[in-house]
Amino acid sequence: QRRKEMAVKLNVNVGTIGHVDHGKTTLTSALTQIQAARLGGQALSFDQIDKAPEEKARGITINTSHVEYESETRTYAHIDCPGHADYVKNMITGASQMDGAILLIDGTEGAAKQTIEHILLARQVNVANMVVFVNKMDMLSDVERVEMAELIELETGALLEAQGYENTPFIFGSALQALEAALRGDLDAPEMACIKELVDAMDRHFPDPVRDYDSPFMMPIEGVHTIPGRGTVVSGRVERGVIKVGQPVEVIGLSNDGAELIVTGTQAFRKDVPEAKAGMNVGLLLRGLKRDEVQRGQILSAPGVIQPYQKGRAEIFVLTAEEGGRHTAFSTGYSPQFFFGVTDITGVIDVSEGMPVLPGSQAKVGFVLHKPVGIEKGVRFALREGGKTVGAGIVTEVAT
Ligand code: GDP
Ligand code: MG
Repeated sequence: QRRKEMAVKLNVNVGTIGHVDHGKTTLTSALTQIQAARLGGQALSFDQIDKAPEEKARGITINTSHVEYESETRTYAHIDCPGHADYVKNMITGASQMDGAILLIDGTEGAAKQTIEHILLARQVNVANMVVFVNKMDMLSDVERVEMAELIELETGALLEAQGYENTPFIFGSALQALEAALRGDLDAPEMACIKELVDAMDRHFPDPVRDYDSPFMMPIEGVHTIPGRGTVVSGRVERGVIKVGQPVEVIGLSNDGAELIVTGTQAFRKDVPEAKAGMNVGLLLRGLKRDEVQRGQILSAPGVIQPYQKGRAEIFVLTAEEGGRHTAFSTGYSPQFFFGVTDITGVIDVSEGMPVLPGSQAKVGFVLHKPVGIEKGVRFALREGGKTVGAGIVTEVAT
């Protein structure tokens, strides 16, 4: 019975963000304990979550814990990172994309340095929505509680609005007390109310993830195959839009010469389908395309939609020497390889709006590529030098 219900619930990707020690892991544990007791699923202790396993994304090591819990209507896949550096890496590499973030704030302190950085970064990497959990309210007297609640809602609300996060719900409570009540098995304890309010706020404020069927067709190419006698098939997951047999497309990338191609077959699960839509994994048979004219990492799109760009701005982070990165800082003129998918191109970095970029730091930079490439805002890349990964980035602006 339980399994059946889970199968039909919609999954939403979320995670805890915020300053170190404000209670992200405690809240994550409380969420799994309480939702598991109410609705089933796996309850995880603080230690199980805090021992985050290592993951690899674009050759970069990140520590993240993936946990799952349910609400009445959804399953939440939730990530919690042990440290600030892991958040930055996770967000910039897109190792786990969040549909919504739970921003933790220590109610005795208010927004701190990393709180602000995480809000800015969330905006840069297109996290669409936030809810705020103001934690550690158990440490305040009744009078202080009212004062701090007002102050934090005002200050942090303004910070969030400045980044386009409108009408963000604020929940006040104590993750630690809720967790302790859950571990006692006291599901009706008043300390639990904040977790219920939080889950309700997530259900209401984070919209269902939607597939974009209305924008022009776009698909990153993951594979290229030849069907003897029929032609070249490119495969991948449709990111936006819908495409049908007979419609024109183009390949964007290094060797793009603007030639128009016609879709002559659309397949999913090795069967012909009437159309390829956003979210589907498909193979598209293309007339007029030779096997060696296309490669993994290029983009297939409706003609004229994605322009090749040569310049832009990006949010990057640079690995430390211990992580296999550079030993020294770099300044304007630094010229690494940029890897967009498998498109590998030299570029020049411009840090003239900031300080030289130190290993282990995060920066906003400009860049100019050696040749135009089919990139757009939100595209992620790895930075490489002498055959090793030295950092990663996400494009925040493009220009020709
Ligand atoms: P993180 O670094 O954001 O993951 O924070 P943790 O969850 O590790 O919590 C940091 C410290 O704050 C730990 O000692 C927790 O026990 C404590 N803590 C977390 N939530 C609360 C709370 O609601 N009230 C109190 N008094 N302490 C809390
Ligand atoms: Mg933690």
